[in-house]
Amino acid sequence: MGTEVNIIVVGNNRAVIRSAVQAGFREISRIEDIMSAYKPNSELCSLNKAGEQEISRELLYVINKARYASELSNGAFDITCKPLIDLWHNARKTNEVPDTQNILNTLSLVEYRNILTKNNNVKFNKAGMKIDLGALAKGYAVDMAMELIKSYDIKGALVDAGGDIRAIGKREDGKLWEIGIKHPRERNRIIGLVNLENSAVATSGDYERFFMLNGRRYSHIIDPRTGYPADNQIVSVSVLSSNCLTCDSLATAITVLGEKRGIELIEKLKGIEALIITIKGGNLKLIKSSGMMQLVLNRENS
Ligand code: AMP
Ligand code: MG
Repeated sequence: MGTEVNIIVVGNNRAVIRSAVQAGFREISRIEDIMSAYKPNSELCSLNKAGEQEISRELLYVINKARYASELSNGAFDITCKPLIDLWHNARKTNEVPDTQNILNTLSLVEYRNILTKNNNVKFNKAGMKIDLGALAKGYAVDMAMELIKSYDIKGALVDAGGDIRAIGKREDGKLWEIGIKHPRERNRIIGLVNLENSAVATSGDYERFFMLNGRRYSHIIDPRTGYPADNQIVSVSVLSSNCLTCDSLATAITVLGEKRGIELIEKLKGIEALIITIKGGNLKLIKSSGMMQLVLNRENS
């Protein structure tokens, strides 16, 4: 999944702990083999090639969750933006911004409503459409790994796939898990801490995965309404909820929606909170949703 995965398990029995950790890693690889847009033999790649296929219950589940995120965000979140991702990826290689006509042509392939499903059959309504689950598959993998780990006789666990994190139980010292939210502009600094208690957090940001083109910084997150990389002063979005798939999809959606519409969306959803960080004229601004009690900011940022 293009990221590093860390798993921590707390318990009394070393062998049980080891088995739980191994089961977690195996589960993450299993999901990667289904949902990767880059592994040529993944189920997703085969669907992308064929344009119509019977798919597994699991892949359908994640596609349906993605469609739900698209509905919630009025299309700001859209897994059919893969042709645009490829276009911009290519631009990065050739170091040339794609021309407007090329962007518009590619944009015409992007529309989540053109994913048609009937039972477990999926069909793309337009030739050339492709799906990328990079915005939520990691969250799903973290959830599934945790479901397996939970079935072992353990006291607590944390699964972290590059900032998509889910925790259960307690740490070894009996305290709640404490997660640092990275400072989006200063390496090795955190901007605040959140406590997780049987819950999850995921962060989307422009600071870990971006690319430079003609001296400009471009986000790896695409705005499917314009065809250009998202550009709305957002540098980091962290979402908290009971499961990591929800956090992962909404963090990406809000990065596209921007501060105002992003916070409006979060306030409408029960049991989901967010911290949005924007940058204006070099100054960072932190916006918390109203129920974000789990967050403790560093004193200089509060
Ligand atoms: P994340 O790091 O979770 O925010 O996901 C970013 C990844 O999601 C990108 O690398 C793309 O693979 C994919 N992506 C980019 N833009 C969008 C979008 N607007 N909707 C859904 N997925 C996207
Ligand atoms: Mg995401």
